[in-house]
Amino acid sequence: MTETTDDLPPQAGSGEAISVRGVGKTYAAGAGPVRALMPTDLEVEPGEFVVLLGPSGCGKTTLLRMLAGLISPTEGTIEIGGRPLFTGRDATPARDALGSLGFVFQAPNLMPWRKVWRNIALPLEAKGIGRAERKRRATELAELVGLGEFLDHYPKQLSGGMQQRVAIARALIHRPSILLMDEPFGALDAMTRDTMNLLLQKLWQDTGKTVVLVTHSISEAVFLADRVVLLSHRPGRVQDILDVDFQRPRDLTVSAEPEFGDLVSHLRGQLGGQQ
Ligand code: ADP
Ligand code: MG
Repeated sequence: MTETTDDLPPQAGSGEAISVRGVGKTYAAGAGPVRALMPTDLEVEPGEFVVLLGPSGCGKTTLLRMLAGLISPTEGTIEIGGRPLFTGRDATPARDALGSLGFVFQAPNLMPWRKVWRNIALPLEAKGIGRAERKRRATELAELVGLGEFLDHYPKQLSGGMQQRVAIARALIHRPSILLMDEPFGALDAMTRDTMNLLLQKLWQDTGKTVVLVTHSISEAVFLADRVVLLSHRPGRVQDILDVDFQRPRDLTVSAEPEFGDLVSHLRGQLGGQQ
């Protein structure tokens, strides 16, 4: 099987929908079962930017890992672009649905001995794609995340924000239609985080992908989201869903608008002392 070299822009193509119906999770822990997430419904539209917000331990990572096919739900069904994510009696993730998903964790998890472009291209090696094609696609993505001049650098030569850009590029290399991000900027300082939020918004607008991002930062949620899904304290359940209508592209001054402050106050009130 050969992958065609096409003339598409690096990440053209629109996002797919995610459908979550009655999805819950109970972990079988040593001291007895732990209910991490109550049965949850959520419909994410193609190309939508949804932020999952909630206090520590409320099941955000659990839900995102289920969306990524990394762990299976105890109950309920997940569909990616109308296709079931888990199939069969042993609930194994379906390969075609997995191909639609890119995942970014809090830590960039780069391989220190690999140059930037070879970190970005890593997922393509398993697919048997040739070196020239891997480098071409990695270069396109490095440019998309503003690292075009760092292709031959090693991770230790990059700042934390730049390393996370590499992780984002790597998550996009197989052209997923959906990007799942678990507190991707949680380890960065405030200014770098602002820069990354702007970069992510641009990348999302340019590519049309569906994004589901987890954070426990209220202002980050309001800045980025089309919709904020607020999860309650453990065991998590959807406590509130808020539409955020500020015009795109948003710049950092949006946080000075009264409506921004109102949304932040509302969410802070809902969270109470939970954070
Ligand atoms: P969040 O990302 O919102 O902080 P998590 O999804 O990581 O929350 O965890 C939700 C709850 O499930 C927590 O109480 C956590 O301790 C528990 N939990 C997470 N992973 C496991 C696991 N593998 N085994 C048992 N309990 C777990
Ligand atoms: Mg988490």
